[in-house]
Amino acid sequence: MSLQEADLIKELADKILYHRQLYYSGKPVLSDHEFDELENKLRKLDPKHPVLAMVGTSSLAADDKIKHRFPMLSLAKTYVLDDLLKWQGDRELLGSVKLDGNSLSLVYINGKLTEAKTRGNGFEGENVQSKVSWIESCLPKLNWKTIKKFNINDSFIEVRGELCCHEKKFESLSQKMETLGLEKPSNPRNIVAGILGRKHHENLSKYFDFFACDLLGEDGFSPFDKEADKFKFLLELGFLIPEVRKVQTKEQVESYLSFVKNYIDFEPYGADGAVFSINRVEEHRRMGSTSHHPRFKMSFKWQGETATTELLSISWSTSRLGVVTPVAEVKPVTLSGATISNVTLHNVSRVVEHQLKVGDQIEIVRSGEVIPKFLRVVHAKKGQCLVPTHCPSCQFKLLEDGVRLLCSNTACPAQVFRGVLNWIQVVGIEDLSEKRLQLLFDLEKVNKIADLYSLSVKDFLDLPMVKDKLAKKLYATIQSSKSIPLAVFLNGLGIHGAGQSTWKELVDFFGDLETILEADSSAIAEIDGFAEKSAQQIVSGLKLRSRDIKDLIKAGLAPYVELADKKFENNNFKDKTFVLTGTMERPRQSIVDDIIKAGGKVVNAVSSKVDVLIIADPKSKSSKAKKARDLGISLWSEKVFTEKLKF
Ligand SMILES: [Zn+2]
Repeated sequence: MSLQEADLIKELADKILYHRQLYYSGKPVLSDHEFDELENKLRKLDPKHPVLAMVGTSSLAADDKIKHRFPMLSLAKTYVLDDLLKWQGDRELLGSVKLDGNSLSLVYINGKLTEAKTRGNGFEGENVQSKVSWIESCLPKLNWKTIKKFNINDSFIEVRGELCCHEKKFESLSQKMETLGLEKPSNPRNIVAGILGRKHHENLSKYFDFFACDLLGEDGFSPFDKEADKFKFLLELGFLIPEVRKVQTKEQVESYLSFVKNYIDFEPYGADGAVFSINRVEEHRRMGSTSHHPRFKMSFKWQGETATTELLSISWSTSRLGVVTPVAEVKPVTLSGATISNVTLHNVSRVVEHQLKVGDQIEIVRSGEVIPKFLRVVHAKKGQCLVPTHCPSCQFKLLEDGVRLLCSNTACPAQVFRGVLNWIQVVGIEDLSEKRLQLLFDLEKVNKIADLYSLSVKDFLDLPMVKDKLAKKLYATIQSSKSIPLAVFLNGLGIHGAGQSTWKELVDFFGDLETILEADSSAIAEIDGFAEKSAQQIVSGLKLRSRDIKDLIKAGLAPYVELADKKFENNNFKDKTFVLTGTMERPRQSIVDDIIKAGGKVVNAVSSKVDVLIIADPKSKSSKAKKARDLGISLWSEKVFTEKLKF
């Protein structure tokens, strides 16, 4: 090794140590990529350099164990709805999606992250603080303003949650690991535990996301009166949280479970059930815990009994979005105490893969209260597997789209019907059940969403079992739904790839319906947090629904724009466009919220349309900062931003 090379190695190592220190103190000036580049350079020159193997700047070894101040217990679990309801009694619950990640505990003393550990054996866990510091959603600090706002006086706050790997990030991580010469991970669930247990490459943790699910104060319980408030607090602090909902009646519990069931199939982070906790925290203290689990929480999973039966027929139906799905009718069989005669087959690929046909002996599974599922063929009957070529509703020729069969006819009666039903559910027209809607369709009184608004009291009286009182109520509910928030209106159109929160963001950004309809996909993709693909889906979805939108407005619908909290206009922000980059002291989302409230917009990329780049270090030499300087864009530090917010 030449002297010159030795100098270069030393210089690189010092640089890495310096930047790592900055990173751990929450003030990085290099992007992850730039930091990786430094490490790569050093690795090329000296692959065994100790700096590369060092775990953070902490003096603790990676296999340090830390005691949990309050044991991290398991959860009581059930597969049976009745058991869940019996446990619930008449109490209000808070349901949340049960993410299937690795449990993590983050301890904050006076708002500062002082400990991060795994669940371990429940009494002591592995110290993972150096890894956690790479994870953006593991906040290094809690915003004191938020703590004050929520009246939290505990100096000890423990946030517990799940560390998960998003499907997409898993792909990037796999590639990255391959380039590092590490063994390729098998699945997103295992990789989290794998990286957490690794001594080196702790920066790979940056591919993970932490979802906060629980919060403990000094007495080991939530410092809030209600569980729901706990989640509001976590969200406002800037944590990611799972989907939560308050439920009380049996119907609400069931509807939430069917939501979760559906959600699990598409959840990119991996989820395996629902967790319910008693909403009143006072009850938690009263009920306490066993040595194994808290008595005030219950998880619900779908994983049930199986049975073998005969496949009698396969029926195909078209969904709201035109997907043609198969359902099997089977010889009635008892499973977990219920008689089963229908089994979902998911999609056409399942039918083709297993060559399903009438007469097959199949094994089915019933998990909780949902529709039972097909598991496998036990004994196949001779013959051919038949798959439809035309839509069962409109006879249009079907398209094959990956694992699905699609009807592309937008006037397809089944799709239109499902679309109107979706509107009714989103807007909340109670009592107009699927059955009643079907009758209105059969009588040709409803053929599209807007037709609902021309129905008279008499039209309802023509339906069986509908008396004067109900007819008037139905009519009044429909009429009152003419005035709804614009985001609800747009959500009711059932456009693929966009939910209520997406529409709310678009409404906040563009201001009114007209502007949203005029926006092209590049304008939407510019908004912070929107991807090009979903922007395109939104634009084409709106285009497809333009007839519906016109008809609804003509029918007297007057969607209104809800202001994002109280808007206060500030000339430093009004009509200006912002880009955020680097790690900030405050949670990113709360900065975005403040900008929107002050009348500004936040976009993804630096371009000539941008007015201000908010950046951790305005002197940074990063490409974003350079480009901004070249374009004459103002660069504000977070401190300057806070000043400008005060006028
Ligand atoms: Zn069709």
